[in-house]
Amino acid sequence: MPIYEYQCQACGQVFSHFWRSIKAADEQSAPVCPQCESADTQRLVSQVTVLGSLGGLTPEEKKAENAYYEKLASITPKEQIEKFRAAKKKEKGS
Ligand SMILES: [Zn+2]
Repeated sequence: MPIYEYQCQACGQVFSHFWRSIKAADEQSAPVCPQCESADTQRLVSQVTVLGSLGGLTPEEKKAENAYYEKLASITPKEQIEKFRAAKKKEKGS
């Protein structure tokens, strides 16, 4: 389950919100500030923590979550993977 960090634009409070799935976090509106109850909160994009397994999700949510992880994985440069593979081949070959 993803936990996102939010910052309140009204009072500056930073807080974590626990979502059922990444899809829910993306589609639902941001949670209100626990300190001043302002709805003017903004997600801090760099902060996401995923806890536990994918249990309890609908197939659609699982798909969305998998897509998210694939996106993360695709950050690895292709060249780096090729280099890694070439090095492995070399090891085995000689
Ligand atoms: Zn606030």
